[in-house]
Amino acid sequence: MSDSMEYADTATTLDPPRPTRGARSHMPTASPGPEAFLHPGLRPERLSDPTFRDPSLETIAKKLSRGERLDKTDGLAMLATPDVNGLATLADRRKTELWGDQVFFVFNRQINPTNACVLDCKFCDYALRPSNPDHYAMSIDDILGRITPELREIHIVSGLHHRWKFEYYVDIIRQIRLAFPKIQIKAWTAVEIDFFAKISKKSVEEVFEILIDAGLNSMPGGGAEVFSERVRQELFRHKIGADEWLNVHRIAHQMGIPTNSTILYGHIETMEERVDHMLRLRELEDEAPGFLAFIPLEFQLGYSNLRARSASAVDGLRTVATSRLLLDNIPHIKAYWVMLGEETASIALNFGASDMDGTILEEKIAHAAKAESPIGVARDRLLHLIREAGKLPVERDAVYNVVRRYPKES
Ligand code: SF4
Repeated sequence: MSDSMEYADTATTLDPPRPTRGARSHMPTASPGPEAFLHPGLRPERLSDPTFRDPSLETIAKKLSRGERLDKTDGLAMLATPDVNGLATLADRRKTELWGDQVFFVFNRQINPTNACVLDCKFCDYALRPSNPDHYAMSIDDILGRITPELREIHIVSGLHHRWKFEYYVDIIRQIRLAFPKIQIKAWTAVEIDFFAKISKKSVEEVFEILIDAGLNSMPGGGAEVFSERVRQELFRHKIGADEWLNVHRIAHQMGIPTNSTILYGHIETMEERVDHMLRLRELEDEAPGFLAFIPLEFQLGYSNLRARSASAVDGLRTVATSRLLLDNIPHIKAYWVMLGEETASIALNFGASDMDGTILEEKIAHAAKAESPIGVARDRLLHLIREAGKLPVERDAVYNVVRRYPKES
């Protein structure tokens, strides 16, 4: 069991861990035998039993029972299956094998220091061009004023400001660390790290060294969008592509910084591009382990006119379940309630998701694109949503140390 999986069942002993060099997996080390995937109703001799209505799911169940890795064909079959219940059964079984009934969440706050951005991604309703006088930019006092000591995690992502120097971004981390030494700081996407390297004329490694010294603990997974050059050219041609995004995370993992991973789905991407994206993440985790979670982010329609209607709840649930089964080396799949909506996120806890992110408290990015979820939720609301799904709420910190286990009943 890796350090980050050793549970500290007390809220008082958790100091933010310092990243230690060297890529490492955050998966539980006890590897389940193939029989662990088999529900009694799915014994090989009974696979014609109508547990599955879709024969491709039967094939996938057989592969899982033999401990075989799923491939692109399986991924496409899962994303298209009409047998949503069968898919949920497989994904929940795998999630239960890893984490039992536990579903994790964190008492966190999101901070978005500026919405000024030098890029112009077509799907983004959050950023404003630097020339737009309505953009905002927080001072360090503004940022510190949003933080309270009982938080476990500060999650910081931002626009790429036209005037801020790298030193200012470092100072944000350093001042939070000095003022709140116990809070873990998860900050800056790969897009921002790449931007820092460019504006400071430093390597990505040097940027990380400086940020670690200032107090960075981990990295969020945003900015990946979809690893498709076709989609990039169409929607975000000035932003880094798949190779650069993956390389920043590779370096982070090698330097001991755990990170998250995402996909932005439900816009112009094809199902094949969705699956390719997941498989590239799986490849990187094989090569340089360090992902904590994968977060399918549902595209919010906003003002972009990219499509007429949002991805359906069933599409979201299939995507969660497919990612749980394809990404066999990434510990957690998140049901990100901000974009899925609270109710669908709660259902996703039976489709392979083992994490609900957190309280967030102040979300600006998805809400700029007209997300209908609340701006933040109280801890009690998260407990309720997890219990409603029949799961066991576990409060965690940013790197999945246990802060507190809650009973199944309130
Ligand atoms: S998605 Fe990120 S990089 Fe692109 S315009 Fe919005 S804030 Fe800027």
